Amino acid sequence: MVEVAGVAPDALGPTITIGEILVELMATSIGHGFKAPQALIGPFASGAPAIFIDQVAKLGGGAGIVSAVGDDDFGWLNIDRLKADGVDVSAIAVLPDWPTGSAFVRYREDGARDFVFNIARSAAGQTTLTDAAEALIARAGHVHVMGSAFAIPGMARLILKAVEVVKARGGTVSFDPNLRKELMGSDLGRQVEAVIAVTDLLLPSGDELFLASGETQEGAAVNRLFSRGIAEVVVKRGREGATLFSQREGRIDAAAFTVEEIDPTGAGDCFGATYLTLRRQGTDALPALRYANAAGARTVTRQGPMEGTSSKAELDRFIDAQGAQA
Ligand code: ATP
Ligand code: MG
Repeated sequence: MVEVAGVAPDALGPTITIGEILVELMATSIGHGFKAPQALIGPFASGAPAIFIDQVAKLGGGAGIVSAVGDDDFGWLNIDRLKADGVDVSAIAVLPDWPTGSAFVRYREDGARDFVFNIARSAAGQTTLTDAAEALIARAGHVHVMGSAFAIPGMARLILKAVEVVKARGGTVSFDPNLRKELMGSDLGRQVEAVIAVTDLLLPSGDELFLASGETQEGAAVNRLFSRGIAEVVVKRGREGATLFSQREGRIDAAAFTVEEIDPTGAGDCFGATYLTLRRQGTDALPALRYANAAGARTVTRQGPMEGTSSKAELDRFIDAQGAQA
């Protein structure tokens, strides 16, 4: 078995992520799509990598993001927000000739969503390795790879480059795959394979565990991933909570908190950011899992993808209040 790695301590350098920054605009009514005029609410700061890194910073973890936005209100809304929450925004390029990315979303009766995206052809799609990005990567201690970023052509190469630099200085890698089976076997599938080969902490949900491992049973899937050098797999199970499979500590289950779900967007990102950040800060696996469940649960009670990110004090209050309810 490959040696157990864990994640690099916060002192080695900030957690960084590379990928899309967007605004999200949400329909205020339930229904199908956008083929008629309707009321919307937004813009909200968004983009899975941006939500993730905002949550890292709110917990006091070193945090930076490599991305690009337009020189427009949507871009500055995001930069101002990330900066206020403590994220290093030096490697967010502001591009005068490209609009900030956007996502329009409307929920259907059954909870499914219709989207209108502008990402690959937005400023985010023009993310490159600027001098500022290289400087941030050179002092990073951990790279979090967000599968959603692979939808942008060229992003995978940039991410793998950053991984190489950070690993070479003793840093570690986490990966939230966001995989679709249609992807595996394609060029993108091979890039995903390359990320799995260097991952220390994998954060799958749904059938991503099986897609990432090529196995069909949970135990076999986890063992296959362990044999490839992954130290910890944390399976996210929505309102069922989460399970840690650790080479060092075995299996640990943590129940979810009971909340009323208002907007599920961002739960996985906030969960992953919380688990990773607390582990990098030296917290044990079980309490880190409980805080991560609390962060995910708190997120779904707020409308807007980044509106549910939490400080440690907010998580403590949430957990106390839940305890009092039980
Ligand atoms: P995303 O939709 O952001 O991609 P995901 O599929 O990656 O999410 P989920 O399993 O949906 O991840 O959510 C992550 C974590 O958030 C869960 O493991 C759980 O701790 C918490 N969570 C999500 N939804 C709920 C809910 N309805 N009630 C309580 N906790 C929840
Ligand atoms: Mg997910």
